[in-house]
Amino acid sequence: MRVLKFGGTSVGSADRMKSVAKLINDGVPKVVVLSAMSGTTNALVEIAKAYHAKDKEKAGELIGHLNMKYEFLLSELFKSVPAAEKGKALIKNHFDYLRSFDTDSFSFNEERLVLAEGELISTSLFHFYLEENKIDSVLIPALEFMRTDENEEPDLNYIEDHLKKMLKGLKEHSVFITQGYICRDSFGAVSNLKRGGSDYTATLIGAALHSDEIQIWTDIDGMHNNDPRIVDKTKPVAELSFDEAAELAYFGAKVLHPTCVNPARLRNVPVRLLNTMMPEAKGTLISNKSSGAEIKAVAAKDSIVAINIVSSRMLMAYGFLRNVFEVFERYKTPIDMISTSEVAVSVTIDNTKNLDAIVKEISAFAVVSVEHNQSIICIVGDFLADKPGCAVQLFEAMRSVPIRMISYGGSKNNISLVVNTEHKKEALKLINKGLFGL
Ligand code: ADP
Ligand code: ASP
Ligand code: MG
Repeated sequence: MRVLKFGGTSVGSADRMKSVAKLINDGVPKVVVLSAMSGTTNALVEIAKAYHAKDKEKAGELIGHLNMKYEFLLSELFKSVPAAEKGKALIKNHFDYLRSFDTDSFSFNEERLVLAEGELISTSLFHFYLEENKIDSVLIPALEFMRTDENEEPDLNYIEDHLKKMLKGLKEHSVFITQGYICRDSFGAVSNLKRGGSDYTATLIGAALHSDEIQIWTDIDGMHNNDPRIVDKTKPVAELSFDEAAELAYFGAKVLHPTCVNPARLRNVPVRLLNTMMPEAKGTLISNKSSGAEIKAVAAKDSIVAINIVSSRMLMAYGFLRNVFEVFERYKTPIDMISTSEVAVSVTIDNTKNLDAIVKEISAFAVVSVEHNQSIICIVGDFLADKPGCAVQLFEAMRSVPIRMISYGGSKNNISLVVNTEHKKEALKLINKGLFGL
């Protein structure tokens, strides 16, 4: 069973939905994972904010605006009156529901119910469209099999058990439509896999079903060598190993959800990134193969905090690093990068929820300083293996940019640098020229 995921832009209009219907109608058994239509989750986030702020009027305005977009979509998507009526009733139900929240009791749980609406609407509309066009398919509710555990991590065993049971009862069908992003938490409440989480849904389903391939269909022809939102000339990377793709996704390549590579790597299911607007383009194949020693791509992650920790007692001392790391562990705060000298250690984090408490605790045994507004620039490839001179090339390219931290050698496919965010764009452009000749 193949898994195909279509992102927000790929289902962002009636025409785009019609193209997706064509793409999936090839007789191959598949699970089709859909995101919300582009712009919808952002709008739902704003609606939830208005409810949190007890501003029912603003929430109503935002809901009305979003509702209009869907009214327009209905008029373009369906040909027959019965299908259009069905779509109209569906939209009315969902928007009545969005309007029904009470500002006084609006909490985190209600917010997650609001955020789930985008994928619930897009999948139902798409299913109606397939029905109208006599393309056999079944809508399988993600809320009945996607689940996270008590650590808010996807529970792959639960997902596998429940999904397989569900599919067993639907043997006469071969196209299954489901919602990306949404799930239930370990208490059974409606939750989600964080922004961009539909990719994660797709790889979890692909892993659960031991698929032959997971396809992520989006608005660009694969993983590019640099961030196309920042740099003018970028090119797609034909092949990446799971490790390389995971590093790029984690360090800011928005085309993939940060941790979505993990389930695919775990069960060794190749992931192909493809472009809905250009289905014939080769895209990027992510698999357990690595294709030669070369620098493949660069990505950047913002909102990084660098913490510098100095101890005179670190000189010739053991146990200092353990004491430092124990504090981060206690506050469940992952460290991304580390660089050490004999008397000091610098670490970076992006989860600043417990920053003050962490600084306070470490200050009991060291001198701590904190720098905000940092970015990690992560250069990915298979370069450490055979190709000498990569570091020289990189630092030559970065000659004019001040570098706050360097991490090299932790993994054979990554060099990471920390720069102040104000230098990020310049750094990405210089790397594009100096390392990729673009
Ligand atoms: P979808 O809605 O299909 O999930 P996203 O907007 O999440 O799509 O991801 C696709 C976008 O990611 C592209 O339009 C592009 O602007 C951005 N992007 C950032 N870095 C990269 C990269 N290295 N390669 C490709 N796209 C990237
Ligand atoms: N709709 C969700 C979002 O916009 C999930 C996704 O598109 O992957 O973040
Ligand atoms: Mg995405």
